[in-house]
Parts: sequence; C-alpha cells; structure tokens
Amino acid sequence: MPVDASPPLTTYAQREAALLASYAMPSTASRGRKYPEPEHPYRGPFQRDRDRILHCSAFRRLSGKMQVFTGDMGDYHRTRLTHTHEVASIARTIGRVLKLNEDLIEALALFHDIGHPPFGHAGEDALDECLHAHGGFSHNRFALTLAEELESRYPAFPGLNLTLEVLEGQATRADKDAAYAACGEAPLLEVQVVETADSVTYDAHDTDDAVKLALVSLDELARCTLVGEALTHVRRQYADLRDDLLRKAVVHQLIDRQVSDVLHTSAAILAEAHGMTAQEIRRSPLRIAASRELCDQKKELENFLHERVYRHPRLIAVRRQAQDRLKQLFACYCENPDLLPAHFQDRARQVGLPRAVGDYLAGMTDRFCERQYRVLVEQRPAASLEM
Ligand code: MG
Repeated sequence: MPVDASPPLTTYAQREAALLASYAMPSTASRGRKYPEPEHPYRGPFQRDRDRILHCSAFRRLSGKMQVFTGDMGDYHRTRLTHTHEVASIARTIGRVLKLNEDLIEALALFHDIGHPPFGHAGEDALDECLHAHGGFSHNRFALTLAEELESRYPAFPGLNLTLEVLEGQATRADKDAAYAACGEAPLLEVQVVETADSVTYDAHDTDDAVKLALVSLDELARCTLVGEALTHVRRQYADLRDDLLRKAVVHQLIDRQVSDVLHTSAAILAEAHGMTAQEIRRSPLRIAASRELCDQKKELENFLHERVYRHPRLIAVRRQAQDRLKQLFACYCENPDLLPAHFQDRARQVGLPRAVGDYLAGMTDRFCERQYRVLVEQRPAASLEM
C-alpha cells in the first residue's frame, strides 16, 4: 500500500497564530455568518469572503463603472475596478507590515466600492434625489443590499452570506458616527486600514489621471505641498525625465510617502497596544493614523483636486448629462414597471417599486445605463411607454 508522504497542511489558524499581532482580527474569532456553514478544509472565513466577492457579478461590473473620469475620456485612467485593486494592494501592504489579518483586509477592500452606481458620485447623487422620499440612496449601504439580498450565486442562501465582520466593516463606512455610537467601539483595525488605503489611493491616482488627461499640469499641482515635495524628491534623483515618466515617478512617490507615513505613525501608536486583543483595541483610543503633517498636506491636495479637477467644466458637463439620464430612466421604469427584468418586478412587490428601480439602476454599468437610456428614453415612442 502506498504511503502518503505529503506533509500535513498548515491550517489558516496556525498560520495566523504565527504571523498576526495580538490586536489583529483572527479568523478563528469570527462571529460567523447569518446562515451557518461548515468550515472549509483549508480556506479561512475571510479568505472565503474575499473569494465570494471576487466571483460575484457586482464585482465584475466595477470594470464598467467610472471612478472619476468616463470611458470616453480615454483608456488610461482608473475605473472603479482598478481603483478597487489599487486600494486592496495598498491596504495589504499596510496590513502586512502591521501584522493585521490580510485576508480580512483584502475582503473589505474588494468589497468597499462594490455598491457604486453608474457614473460615480454623480450617479449616487441622482439616485439619492430620485429616492429622497423613500429613504435615499448611498453606495455604501447598497453594497450591503447586494451582498445580503441581490447577489444570487448559492443555492443554500440569498446573497453572499459574508462574515459578520465584513458586513459590519462595510456598515461602518455607510454611517461612521451611527456605527460608532451604536457599539461604542471603533471599527476593527483592518477596517481602518482599508479606509486609510482608499484615501492614499485616490489622492495619488486622481493626481495621475488629472495630469494625464491635461485637466491640470504637474507644475500647477506642485503648488500643493504633497505633490511639490514629491516632485522635488524625484527631480533630485533624476535630472531630465520625460514628462510621462516624471508624472509616473511622482505618483509612485506620492504613494510611497503616504504609505510610509501611515506605517510609521500607526506603528508608533500600536506600540502602546502590546498584548491587546482586536476587541480591546477597539475600545481604546488607539487608531490607524497618518501624521498631522500628512493629514494637512492631503487636505490641501484634496481641496485643489476638488476645485480644479472634480469641478472641471469637462466633468461638470458629464456629471449633468449622467444625472439627467439616470433621473429620466428612473421615471421611465417607475411609469413602466413591466420594462424591469422579472426578478426586479418580484423585488418591487417586496420593497416597493421606487426602491426596486433604484436597485436595478444602481447595479448597471455606465455602458449598460447609456444603452438603456437610448433604447427606452431616446428611441422609444412616448405612446409605447404608456402601454
Ligand atoms: Mg474607494
């Protein structure tokens, strides 16, 4: 009889016990899922969450959703999907150095923007207006609706049946103050890392994309201390860089500078947390943080981006058109519910027609939304809409 000479598998619990800090959230301490499931033989609960998010439809549709700039402005800039991967990458880097639970961090990061409707924050504002009398719309809350109700992938339960830690982390994003007030505890450190990584990521890539799209110049952006110092740092290393390489080197430096600051600041704070558990540190004042200097520099850059990029005339025009189209589509589906796919007609009977229409629209990619607008609003004769 052959002897099985393969070494025993290291369990995720053993791996985490060897690698994680006391204040990391261990997989073995997860409060589990709404619908209890047997343990997986070699994947931990947060790793399974990460995989479930990666394989769900809403995640793939992020490739067709804009971050800040629309698809017809070019192919270089970030989509909601590439933004999400950049956040996950930066969050993992921070989490690994601080010895936090990388599986939980990655699940939270891949999940964090999954509820974004088409056309970014412009689309979110339009849907919020449409649903004003019915509780409004928030992409952070819609992520929970997707994960708990709308995604349909498993025969045994609705939604993705994610762990309570991932759902709670997302709920914190939806309403930070309410979540804190409800339990009197700060979010898990892993949740805080993803929040921080999101900010590091968009400050760096919006700078990159805005310069690439010629909405502002690097020299104009360099009036902000954070970019100015990054530019000086790069020029000191490389005297005569081509413009595109200079821009990219500055973006690398922007990420490096921010991540290094967060790591040094947070490591100094966490040095006081020796021996604390994940729950104990939530009840303490110790947080993942950037230095005061970096926070001020980021604020300066974000104010600049807000004024000169997010409110650029090219983006304002896109924003207005997108909002107008979403509102017209919302009205069209509300007046003609038979145009909704069958399962959203069923959903309308459970949650009311306006919410079901909002859910359907929120799940659309920018492309699909524009196509529906052309077919249902532009090309459809008014009389047929009333049938
Ligand atoms: Mg984000």
